[in-house]
Order: sequence, then C-alpha cells, then structure tokens
Amino acid sequence: MKAQGYAAREAGGKLSAFEFERRQLGDKDVSIDIKYCGICHSDIHQVNNDWGGASFPMVPGHEIVGVVNAVGKNVARFKPGDRVGVGCMVDSCGKCGPCKMGLQQYCENGATFTYSSKDKVSGGMTYGGYSDKIVVVEDFVLKVSEKLDFAATAPLLCAGITTYSPLKHWNLKPGQTVGVAGLGGLGHMAVKLAKSMGAHVVVMTTSEKKRDEAKRLGAEKVIISKDTEDMKKNRMTMDLIIDTIPAPHDMNLYLSLLKINGTIVLVGLPEKESQHVISAGSLIGGRRSVGGSNIGGIEETQEMLDYCADHGIVSDIELIPVSKVNEAYVRTVNSDVKYRFVIDMSSL
Ligand code: NAP
Ligand code: ZN
Ligand code: ZN
Repeated sequence: MKAQGYAAREAGGKLSAFEFERRQLGDKDVSIDIKYCGICHSDIHQVNNDWGGASFPMVPGHEIVGVVNAVGKNVARFKPGDRVGVGCMVDSCGKCGPCKMGLQQYCENGATFTYSSKDKVSGGMTYGGYSDKIVVVEDFVLKVSEKLDFAATAPLLCAGITTYSPLKHWNLKPGQTVGVAGLGGLGHMAVKLAKSMGAHVVVMTTSEKKRDEAKRLGAEKVIISKDTEDMKKNRMTMDLIIDTIPAPHDMNLYLSLLKINGTIVLVGLPEKESQHVISAGSLIGGRRSVGGSNIGGIEETQEMLDYCADHGIVSDIELIPVSKVNEAYVRTVNSDVKYRFVIDMSSL
C-alpha cells in the first residue's frame, strides 16, 4: 500500500516529502495510522550514517504512537480504534536465546529495526515513523493507556524504555543516588523515572540554562559538567550513572563520581570511529563497573508504558509540524529542545 512520509535521500541529506510502499496487511499484522512520532538523537545519527550501515532513502522515526485501522485475521490482541505504540524494533527471530528471554533487541539473528533494516516479510527495507501509516507484526505492537497524553507518550517508546531498562537491570533501590549525564530526550526521562523509583537524582549538564529545569524535573542537585572543580567535589557520591551523552567525553571524570561498587551505564552512542578512554585505575580504585544497554525488550517496553500510566509519567515535548523536522535536527544537536521534539503527523 502507498504511504507518505519524510525521508533523507543520502547520508547527511535534508529530509523532504517521500512516497513509498508499505507491505500489505498479513494475517498476523496490525495496520496503524500514525498520529505522533518523536525525534530521537539516534534518528540524527542514522541520517548522518554516524554508525555505518545506514540505507537510503531513509524514513527515520522509532517513537511511534497511533491508532489501529485494520488487523490481520490471526490477530487477537488488537482491534481497529485501539491506541498503540511501536518502538525501535518491528521483528526478531523469536527462537534464539535472547529472544526467548524477551530480549529481542539482542537477537542473535539480528532484530529487525523500525527503519533502515531488512524487512523479513516484504524483503525490502523498513521505513520508520515519520509517515502516515505503518504495518507491524502483532507481537511488536504495544498497548497505550487512555490515561496517557498521546503525543507526549511517543518518546516513551525509545527514550522511556532506554532509561527504564537499565534502572531496572542495575536494580535501582529507593534512597540510592542516580547520576544522569546529559539532560536531553533520554536524560530527562531518566530523571523522571529514577525519581519515581525513589532515587536521589543528580544531573550532570553542559547547559547552565538547564539548572532550574533539571530541578523542576525532579533532580535534587545539578552539576555543570564543564566545571571540573564541581565534578571533583562530587567524587564518590553516586550509586549508578545513566550516561546519555551522544559524543566522546572524559569517562574517567564521570567514573570518579561513583561510590565503590558503582556502575556507569552507557546508553549514549557516539559515532562509530570515536572511542571512550577508560583508565584501569578509575575502575580498580572503587571496584567500579562500566555497562551498556540497548533500548529494552518488548515485554519490558509494555511494562514501562503501564508503569508510566500508573505514575503519570510522560515526556516534556515540543510538538512540531513535519515541515520543521530539519530545523528540529539542528536544534537537537545544539541541545536546544525541552526535551523532545514530537512530529504531529496530521501535518503531513
Ligand atoms: P539529545 O536529546 O540530543 O540529548 C543528549 C544530551 O547530551 C544533550 O541534550 C546535552 O545535554 C548532552 N550533550 C550533547 N552533546 C554533548 C557533548 N559533546 N558533551 C557532553 N554532553 C553533551 O539525545 P537523546 O535522544 O537523548 O540521545 C542521546 C544518545 O543516546 C544518542 O547518542 C542516541 O543515539 C543514544 N540512544 C541510545 C539508545 C540505546 O538504546 N542505547 C536509545 C536511544 C538513543 P546537556 O545540555 O544537559 O549537556
Ligand atoms: Zn531512539
Ligand atoms: Zn532472536
């Protein structure tokens, strides 16, 4: 079926209107009218081919919410009119160890990502959420509660789950101190989620102008990360750090903020060639760990959406028409958004 969207035609290219084919509705598929789609920094990395392997034309977007318009004959969990979400993945093998553990994002045979991935069903490439509709196999469609503001829910599908999952995996306990490095789309969700789980939250930001904002979002303390003295004053104060910074930075400085047994979890993913330098002493000097985490599995994404509905958590968004997407990319790179751009798809 014909779909309308916005695509980049080449690495680093501007996005513009694009017509393309979606696969026909299969027996296990859900067809969705997309209402809103968030702009994740990963979309910008992908359009710029920062990580290699990008495919063009590319319709980015993996923070999708919409309304079901049709379902295949073997679909049991959804019906037309349901509010649903689609995140970073639309399929996986379902058979390997990670898939069986509900960790489809680490599928040994390669998960099918929402865009710029090979579609196992159609044989073509996947196209993402900056578009009017999408067809996704039932198992990768999430339910969105009527309690949640719809547009502000879109960013939960990536920024929400990417920060929820490590807080759970590293077993955050009430009363612990969580550092959040970078107050952008992921970072502001990390603040809200960690706070809701009973943590003391400290934000490390490069932006002096976000100091009051960070407190409004729930942080108890704000460190301006460029102020090395301020960073040093906070040595050995944090149990867990969620590091969302999308560029190389001084990891040893951040590691020094951890208490003994503390862990820094990388979720920010700088471009392929860049590397973090970690000195052995930074780890050994406090029995510290470095971890990394990729989004979250499908079951956990549903758990996160239900958790957010119960706790009244959504993203702080700036709603834009699709014509502003190129401008939004520039502003995101300049850390000039509070805190996620969401495209209103009715503007297509
Ligand atoms: P974002 O909205 O642009 O936020 C990133 C924040 O990091 C900025 O707002 C800024 O915060 C800070 N920052 C930016 N450049 C910096 C630099 N050079 N040095 C220090 N701080 C800097 O991006 P996002 O959407 O949250 O994504 C963040 C990263 O996570 C990206 O690399 C993205 O690809 C990655 N990501 C990973 C996953 C995963 O599964 N692991 C999922 C989604 C996204 P301040 O103004 O507060 O300094
Ligand atoms: Zn994302
Ligand atoms: Zn698998």
